Amino acid sequence: MNHNKSEQLFTAAKAIIPGGVNSPVRAFKSAGCNPIFIDKAAGSKIYDVDGNAYIDYVGSWGPMILGHCHPKVVEAIQKTAASGASFGAPTALETELAEMVNDAYPNIEKVRMVSSGTEATMSAIRLARGYTGRDKILKFDGCYHGHADSLLVKAGSGAATFGVPTSPGVPADFAKHTLTATYNDLTEVKAMVAANKGEIACIILEAIAGNMGCVPPAPGFLQGLRDLCTAEDIILIIDEVMTGFRVAYGGAQEYYGVRGDLVCLGKIIGGGLPVGAFGGKSEIMESLSPEGGIYQAGTLSGNPLAMSAGITTLKLLQEEGFYQQIEEKSSYLEAGLQQVTAASPVATCWQRVGGMFCTYFQEGPVNNFADALNSDTDAFGRYFRSMLDQGINLAPAQFEAGFMSVAHSKEDLDKTIAAVEKALTAV
Ligand SMILES: *Cc1c(COP(=O)(O)O)cnc(C)c1O
Repeated sequence: MNHNKSEQLFTAAKAIIPGGVNSPVRAFKSAGCNPIFIDKAAGSKIYDVDGNAYIDYVGSWGPMILGHCHPKVVEAIQKTAASGASFGAPTALETELAEMVNDAYPNIEKVRMVSSGTEATMSAIRLARGYTGRDKILKFDGCYHGHADSLLVKAGSGAATFGVPTSPGVPADFAKHTLTATYNDLTEVKAMVAANKGEIACIILEAIAGNMGCVPPAPGFLQGLRDLCTAEDIILIIDEVMTGFRVAYGGAQEYYGVRGDLVCLGKIIGGGLPVGAFGGKSEIMESLSPEGGIYQAGTLSGNPLAMSAGITTLKLLQEEGFYQQIEEKSSYLEAGLQQVTAASPVATCWQRVGGMFCTYFQEGPVNNFADALNSDTDAFGRYFRSMLDQGINLAPAQFEAGFMSVAHSKEDLDKTIAAVEKALTAV
């Protein structure tokens, strides 16, 4: 497969954009090769500038659950654009999408639109702190909630409970307010909450951890956090930026039957345009400016193009049997992959919830970030490069989820299974 034009474009990009990309994972660094530059996409396929076609399991990191360029979404964006791209003033579209969010997530009584998942989690945390009057927050190692300062924090070593920054530029003074616990370890969370009684504003988590591959919550973990938060007046923030409208129309909260006090959304809700949202109990949301005193704003928040792409996408997801189709395609892929991986000497572990999944290069199971780190990332790199060469576009890093779309055909899935069988011989 020829990548000459991609190589040229990458060289030009690196001269003017840090690392040649506007989001680090796109540089393919942990896959051990250079990125492909995209020309266009349609349905389940993505095409690079050298004219190579790939079956796409990245789906813009989750949003493209309908497949790329669904004609109705394209039409909605074009039609809205013809009336004006942005006004900085309210439109009816914002209320329409807000009402759809409330229908899907009954605990989101009020919602505010923003322009990214990062903005949603950052704002939800400010709101939780402002509402409770507490500074500390608790997150889980391996959960990603965007790149705001308080959230770029990992567990401190040994007995330390204070978090340490994962990036230069995050002041230790900020990181010290972030406690970091082990995913799926309720006992540890309870101990941390007891040691910081009355000081923790919120616990934030991915109800299915999709930024360390695909780690489902252990039985009782979510309910245990819910009960703990209720008992301690801690705000439970469920970050559904990835899982919302993905594993079910009502996200992980519908799937597992556990509800947060605040919820963050993004990705699918924008249908491929830049959108995020955060919402929850009216009583908490009413503390936001201009109703209350906690400040949050955005020039492009509730952007009409993004709202109409989101509304049209969600309407299509409401069609009878949509999530059943996603489940059937995903379980078909799962069955095929399990057959070829079982026949291979390479150690792999497949984990999936609905239309999100991960193949870890290790025996597994993976229940938390430390487990995930046991994966053979070099083996993953060889696997990834072989898959790319065979026309399959996977997330270019071991600790990322793959995403199914409704546009993936049985032929796509069969090709993928055959490619995995071949790729495993190259690992
Ligand atoms: C992608 C993601 C974010 C960040 O969203 P951006 O739009 O990239 O800022 C936050 N939380 C989770 C769970 C995500 O998957």
